[in-house]
Amino acid sequence: MAVIAWIGLGHMGGPMAGHLVEAGHEVRGFDLDGTAVAAAAASGVRAASSIADAVAGADAVFTSLPRNEHVREVYGGAGGVWESAPEHALLLDTSTVDVATSRWCHDESSARGFAFVDAPISGGIAGAKAGSLTFMLGGEASAVDRARPLVEPMAGHVFDLGDPTLGIAAKLANNLMLFVSLVGVAEGAQLAASLGLDPQRFYEVASVSSGESWPLRTWYPAPGVVDSSPADRNYDATFAVALAEKDLAFAVAAAEASGLLTPAARIALDQFRTLIAEGLGGKDASLVAKFPSPEGHV
Ligand code: NAD
Repeated sequence: MAVIAWIGLGHMGGPMAGHLVEAGHEVRGFDLDGTAVAAAAASGVRAASSIADAVAGADAVFTSLPRNEHVREVYGGAGGVWESAPEHALLLDTSTVDVATSRWCHDESSARGFAFVDAPISGGIAGAKAGSLTFMLGGEASAVDRARPLVEPMAGHVFDLGDPTLGIAAKLANNLMLFVSLVGVAEGAQLAASLGLDPQRFYEVASVSSGESWPLRTWYPAPGVVDSSPADRNYDATFAVALAEKDLAFAVAAAEASGLLTPAARIALDQFRTLIAEGLGGKDASLVAKFPSPEGHV
């Protein structure tokens, strides 16, 4: 069994680290937020006092951090992973970052003698808790081979996508599809309601017809239709508007850099930016439909 450091014990990182404990690994966790550390400690993660404390003697270091700047700081900052981890440690970033940050992590890790794998995930908080996430791995073949058994206790599916940054490329392309589909589901649901259809009856039709999709089944935006829908819980976030905006902005930037036009993604991105400007960045992305919540407000 391995000694594993885990930096960033939030909604995703906390439960994921817990699955590594269950798999028999010694896991040392660090987070700036003491509440997150305490929650992880309750599932057997050893609370570390700093990044350096967490990574000392580690065979592998996982990161699960909010944004590009946090990832850059945790790897490259004073007392960070590159300064403190043993050189044999495998580094894996599960955060959703842009392609440039992932490339930087690969290049700078390799310049310091570390093997790095971009290992973004899909499946949300429910998937992190259930250990059923989809992992998309990018990196040198020898590093990805080392990564696979480590991520398996947290995963329903593990994909080896080949070269460095191809994991994050898959994640951004997947989430572009997700959020463009979500906007389509939101508009279709509103059209159905405004033409006089009962939302439940229309859902029954669309879920066995060609309008069917993951956001339709999981996030149907009208209240009282789908058990898992945030519309029934005042749009409390299962996937926050601010995270959706981040992922789509990275996807649109990556498309632009390859000379690709993504007009539908840009429209979806504008919708999420409007919600953020209205102070709703912490609410669920399915709010894009703007159906009234059960409480009549958001
Ligand atoms: P989160 O905000 O709940 O957790 C991130 C944690 O990182 C926080 O606890 C924060 O305190 C900690 N942190 C920030 N800077 C730190 C530092 N310098 N040192 C140590 N800890 C630090 O976020 P999350 O929802 O767990 O998401 C984590 C990553 O996974 C993000 O990149 C997100 O885009 C991605 N992701 C999230 C979901 C989801 O449904 N929440 C799904 C797939 C991917």
